[in-house]
Amino acid sequence: MTGSYAEFRRRRQAGELRCRDVVEAFLHRIEEYRDLNAFITVAADDALRAAEESDARFDAGTPRALEGCVVAVKDNISTRGIRTTCASRMLENFVPVYDATAVERLKAAGAVIIGKTNLDEFAMGSSNEHSAFGPARNPHHPDYVPGGSSGGSAIAVAARLCHVALGSDTGGSVRQPAAFCGVIGFKPSYGRISRYGLVAFASSLDQIGILAQTVEDVAAVFDAISGHDPRDATTLPEPPTQSLAALEEVPETLHVGILPEHILRDCHEEVRECYQHHLALLRDAGVQLTTVEIPYSSAWVPTYYVIATAEASSNLARYDGVRYGFRAPVEEGEDVITATRTAGFGAEVKRRIMLGTYVLSAGYYDAYYRKAQRARRLIAEAYARAFASLHVLLLPTSPVPPFRLGERLEDPVAMYLADYFTVSANLAGIPAVSLPAGKTRSGLPLGLQLQAPYGADEALLRYARFCLQLWRGGQDLR
Ligand code: GLN
Repeated sequence: MTGSYAEFRRRRQAGELRCRDVVEAFLHRIEEYRDLNAFITVAADDALRAAEESDARFDAGTPRALEGCVVAVKDNISTRGIRTTCASRMLENFVPVYDATAVERLKAAGAVIIGKTNLDEFAMGSSNEHSAFGPARNPHHPDYVPGGSSGGSAIAVAARLCHVALGSDTGGSVRQPAAFCGVIGFKPSYGRISRYGLVAFASSLDQIGILAQTVEDVAAVFDAISGHDPRDATTLPEPPTQSLAALEEVPETLHVGILPEHILRDCHEEVRECYQHHLALLRDAGVQLTTVEIPYSSAWVPTYYVIATAEASSNLARYDGVRYGFRAPVEEGEDVITATRTAGFGAEVKRRIMLGTYVLSAGYYDAYYRKAQRARRLIAEAYARAFASLHVLLLPTSPVPPFRLGERLEDPVAMYLADYFTVSANLAGIPAVSLPAGKTRSGLPLGLQLQAPYGADEALLRYARFCLQLWRGGQDLR
């Protein structure tokens, strides 16, 4: 009952089950797995109503592309009438009056929104521990983090609390939690999915992404929500993708770039083993592998943290206690804005605002921000050169397996370094997907990542499906 959407759809069309029963089953599981803290808000009534409408459509023989698909939405994506908190005190009671374009399109395609998922406050983090609503937990072991910042969305898919989920990926926040929870996490090329209604963290890096159990489900959702949006001037002027239809085409040749030993040197031993094992499977299947140097890789993390914090400091200036959201109670003569921002933001968000303000300040702008912009261009160009002779690049998703709750909290730099393999795709704007790739000896999921040239999203999903099938011994997942 709680498998992939494609499987559900087949069974619904065969009359074996009803959307309403499936939503009830998911709601029941959400309750059962409450300790994982995956959801901030559950929209049970709305979801049941939408499910009844979907049943009517199926009964009438007119189901839409995602009819009855149960979706969990990260709580930094606007949902009309359902509170959208960004896991922050600042927006604890904020109820948007409009839907994000992605949500609007999901609903128009017949999807059922089941609730809003937990995250690191304003999507800043890699462990989901920086949430004003408490940390979320890894469904494979409750003492471990689910990854972040889209931790709740990854848990929701992994624990079968929905069919698919939306997340946001500024520097890995869809891919890394997907890897930590053992599901698929896809970040499209910048501009492929509208950011309208996605609460801004770092606008030049932010993209909405999709988490699911199968590549088919990722593709179906992508096709429904991608495409130009007049309300987001950074979307590509292209119609929605048609990736689902093209998935089955088996690539005639596949040329995969692999990383040189020195880039993998600092990875956890089990991550290295996982990488070597899976590339050997590709080699055995006749895939052409080439070791590629990606210059400037040592600049990935520092460049990202300069640009992301700079943009965050500017984007978060709007939370001032004056226009909307939280306002701190003040004594006569006290400064409302300072009091509100002091009480409303958590420690990690404040750290980023201070860092970002610093790198943008008159005296340090050239030394940090301008230099980071230049580095970003070099990083993107290096990727473009590498892709000239490759279809995709294979990387670990994270240099470390899931870690214990609290393990990295006291050391922000150690936390930032865990983003090593994900931030570069956002800096270059290219599409990337994390695929489940086995488990550690202690049973925690590991993920591997495929990255593709800018705009090659459909091809990337096709290769992803191919690799997954190959890694699973030629067997389809379902
Ligand atoms: N972990 C990264 C950060 O903390 C990425 C966050 C994200 O992608 N939203 O900035």
